[in-house]
Amino acid sequence: MDIGSALIIGGGIGGLTAGIALRQRGIPVEIIERDPDWTVYGVGIIQQMNVIRAMKELGVLDDYLARSYGFDSTTIYVGPGGVQDAHFNTPKLAGPDYPSNAGIRRTDLQKVLAGGAERAGAKVRLGLTVTDMQDDGTGVDVTFSDGSTGRYDVVIGADGVFSATRQAILPDAPKPHYTGQWVWRYNLPRPAHVDGIQIFAGPFNGGFVPMTEDLMYIFLLSTEPTTDFMPVAGAAAAMRDRATMVPPQFAAILDQITDDAGVVARPLETIMLDGDWHKGRIGLIGDAVHASTPHLAQGAGMAIEDGLVLADELTKAKSVDEAFAAYRARRMPRVAHVAKNSVRIGEMQMGKIPPFNVGELTGQTIGLMCQPI
Ligand SMILES: Cc1cc2nc3c(=O)[nH]c(=O)nc-3n(C[C@H](O)[C@H](O)[C@H](O)COP(=O)(O)OP(=O)(O)OC[C@H]3O[C@@H](n4cnc5c(N)ncnc54)[C@H](O)[C@@H]3O)c2cc1C
Repeated sequence: MDIGSALIIGGGIGGLTAGIALRQRGIPVEIIERDPDWTVYGVGIIQQMNVIRAMKELGVLDDYLARSYGFDSTTIYVGPGGVQDAHFNTPKLAGPDYPSNAGIRRTDLQKVLAGGAERAGAKVRLGLTVTDMQDDGTGVDVTFSDGSTGRYDVVIGADGVFSATRQAILPDAPKPHYTGQWVWRYNLPRPAHVDGIQIFAGPFNGGFVPMTEDLMYIFLLSTEPTTDFMPVAGAAAAMRDRATMVPPQFAAILDQITDDAGVVARPLETIMLDGDWHKGRIGLIGDAVHASTPHLAQGAGMAIEDGLVLADELTKAKSVDEAFAAYRARRMPRVAHVAKNSVRIGEMQMGKIPPFNVGELTGQTIGLMCQPI
């Protein structure tokens, strides 16, 4: 099928990926982003082997690796004593010369993907959202917040967990759900021994992630009654206060958490659409359809893969409707696994469900993520 024009709503991780993938197939792409400053917070993100493979497919892997810290190993420590429980290397899906995984600053990931999208010829418009969409079966007429209009063969909502596109096309879909946990993150100088992910599991849950030669970010999870905004003033002390029953490795860096403005704390809100992911010529990708918690560190990975698979189906299928249906069928086993099991780990950490073998689940997840998409 020939797609003459595509509109992507949301210039985040999924939207930019879809933009590059569509341009690789020669499809004209416009990306609109609500935030006029295109702000991304400065802490990092864990990206596993399937993301490194995807970056290669998108043609941005060299730029990506130049800005990130590639690594192969994961080490898991358990209990208040911080005793090593597991240490393993994961497969190198981009080839033997590339690392298995990477940690990267979110600001740098955005530079890589935005640079890739712009080089590929996607048109990006900032400070813009959609005020009206009318799908007449042969195209979608869109009105933007600046009063301009356009007509597109396909519209892709990549506008995150609180997606306005989802609300517009699937008003009866489930709403985002607060899991009860927050994640607190902070950047610190990277000690030489943090050359892979280090996870601390139960009763304290947190970790260290290398991001560059010089920097790592640390994270910890806490249980909180609400999603109410946490004030910046006092954030460093608030983060240190949440670090209870910490293993000695984490205790050793606690007094370095001093800058209130450097603390990034976020509630975990999830959604998983088991039903439709599209209506007519308008469909959804990424957190707009399946926002997981970070417990399996695959939310962004799933958004990135969505972009690749949807672009593939839009060129292969006979109609947009068929393409969206085929994309959902291909994506469902992976995203449902990530979304549902991420939430389960958090529920176990909060004592809401009985303990289960997270190591076994991690092994299953890595196996699944290594499968072709
Ligand atoms: C605390 C935390 C830690 C995480 N850690 C990891 C990790 O280590 N590894 C991992 O893989 N994933 C992680 N994730 C998940 C990951 O951040 C998300 O899955 C990913 O950002 C989803 O990408 P997206 O493009 O779908 O949505 P988003 O990144 O939310 O992007 C949506 C974009 O759309 C824009 N937008 C919103 N509404 C509109 C509108 N109406 N019009 C125009 N633009 C709009 C937004 O401004 C934004 O730029 C984590 C998530 C959280 C909360």
